[in-house]
Amino acid sequence: MDLKKFRATSARKRKPLTAFLLKLDKIVPEDMPKLVAKVDATVWKDVNCMECANCCKTMTPTFTKKDIKRISAHLDMQPKEFIDKWLMKEEDTGDMVNKTQPCQFLVNNMCSIYEVRPIDCAEFPHHNKKPFDLYNETFKNNLPHCPATLTLVDRLKKAVEKEYEW
Ligand code: SF4
Ligand code: SF4
Repeated sequence: MDLKKFRATSARKRKPLTAFLLKLDKIVPEDMPKLVAKVDATVWKDVNCMECANCCKTMTPTFTKKDIKRISAHLDMQPKEFIDKWLMKEEDTGDMVNKTQPCQFLVNNMCSIYEVRPIDCAEFPHHNKKPFDLYNETFKNNLPHCPATLTLVDRLKKAVEKEYEW
């Protein structure tokens, strides 16, 4: 994965793709779930998370109480010790997030706690959330970080503009 190229593409396409997602807030094509599933399947033929890990390098997951309990037990730590070492409370949301990026659990471009990783990581990049348009804000925020989301939204835009009168 050429992340430098991705950053350039993302910067170039961010404005039109954000405008598309904003429009999708108001007009949702009838068969959107089918279309998303069809286009998303093409995305994963071209994007390999194992060669990327950009989400782990540039973003932070939210750690729920259950995540903290599960991961700290896995690491043989007390939850408080785990929090003090790696997490902080985000000011505006109150969410527990990583103090630093890249994520401390990213080792050799792989998640070292994969089997107990936060639910937020397990569900990322949220392409199969339903209804898709409820997550437009998330996808907008993730365009500069996730090659899979950038590809999905780009292909969706092309498909919707081809098949519908927008
Ligand atoms: S916990 Fe694992 S999957 Fe989640 S951000 Fe850290 S390295 Fe990535
Ligand atoms: S989810 Fe997105 S940012 Fe994370 S590794 Fe996969 S393609 Fe990269």
